Amino acid sequence: CYSTQTENKITTVEKKKPKRRMKAWYIYQYGGNEELTLSEEAKIPEITSPKDLLIEIQAASVNPIDVVMRGGYGRNLINKMRTWLGRGSGSEFPLTLGRDFSGIVRQTGHLVTRYKPGDEVWGALAGQRQGTHAQFCIAGENEISKKPSSLSHIEAASLPYVATTTWAALITMGHMRENSFHDKRVLIHGGSGGIGTFAVQLIKAWGGEVVATCSTDAVALVKHIGADHVIDYRTEDVLSRLGDIGKLDLILDPVGGEAQEATMKFLRPYHNYVTLVFPLLPNADKHGFLAGMAKSAVDLNFGITKGISKGLTSYRWAFFIPNGEALKKVAVLVDSGKIQPVIDKVFKLDELPLAYEKVEQKHGRGKTVIDMR
Ligand code: NDP
Repeated sequence: CYSTQTENKITTVEKKKPKRRMKAWYIYQYGGNEELTLSEEAKIPEITSPKDLLIEIQAASVNPIDVVMRGGYGRNLINKMRTWLGRGSGSEFPLTLGRDFSGIVRQTGHLVTRYKPGDEVWGALAGQRQGTHAQFCIAGENEISKKPSSLSHIEAASLPYVATTTWAALITMGHMRENSFHDKRVLIHGGSGGIGTFAVQLIKAWGGEVVATCSTDAVALVKHIGADHVIDYRTEDVLSRLGDIGKLDLILDPVGGEAQEATMKFLRPYHNYVTLVFPLLPNADKHGFLAGMAKSAVDLNFGITKGISKGLTSYRWAFFIPNGEALKKVAVLVDSGKIQPVIDKVFKLDELPLAYEKVEQKHGRGKTVIDMR
């Protein structure tokens, strides 16, 4: 694991006796960090679906989605999904945030076939579930896989959300195939963050050529994890460097904004600009569910038109999709040494608000992880 952390040493996992109560972070209304409340005596969740599992979480990461969900981002769409999927139609509060984890299976629903109590697993949960910033969570069999055996739980927890999001962006929405990157040149904006450090390594593992942008202090890290060309967007002219490097087969944009979209003109005709930053959830929050969906259709059309005007590019939105099968394949790449976790800092369970503050600053060097034990 590449680690820039200076405090909170990583320790090995010890199995604990089953508990009746757990520690869990809740919010009782949307707002800032002051809304994060630690319950020391929270009820351990119960399995209500036969394909679900009860997991004792050992570590979880903090992602930008947790910080914005704390403020209410996505509430209209996520609450609709919660109702559709029968996970309650009342208030979402108290709400536990956090989307990914590494942990140990403690119980299984009667239709779970691939896991048993004691298995070490990792996963990333759908937005309508209660989150992972607690000592236990309920996960679906299709949201998890066995964790890479070469990683500690702290290291493993840094990957599932960024891995499944990157997988969705490249494969599901980017329409690429695994291992088909051999003659492909991919530009990744924000190569130093959680998504960026994973995406650089995944595309290198699949044989691609990677161009990545980042700030000055992250150049060495992004080169170290394998990027072929690193552009310091703070001191260099990004467009002129891209002109020298040559045409691109794909752009992955987890940053968003005009400066990033200006790089579209370096794509080969009809190749994909895939952005992770788009207004679907904010539109539903602002305009209500149906009007928000309609506004999003207009916005996507605007993006496509803008792409076409900049050089016949295909412009796509991509978003996190839970994907246990993808995690299984990523675990193989991790255990073969092709992908390593990049951990910026590890916080203790009761320090979680500090972790949110850190992620909110938007200049992470890899991931921020919480030791949940
Ligand atoms: P991190 O906080 O780990 O990383 C943020 C990255 O953004 C850093 O690499 C930083 O680079 C870069 N950055 C910040 N400001 C700029 C800028 N002005 N120009 C260029 N790069 C910049 O976040 P993640 O990597 O985990 O996620 C990134 C974003 O991806 C999220 O904020 C979210 O918007 C989106 N996302 C969307 C998902 C979806 O389902 N649609 C799912 C996951 C993520 P540096 O510090 O070197 O400047």
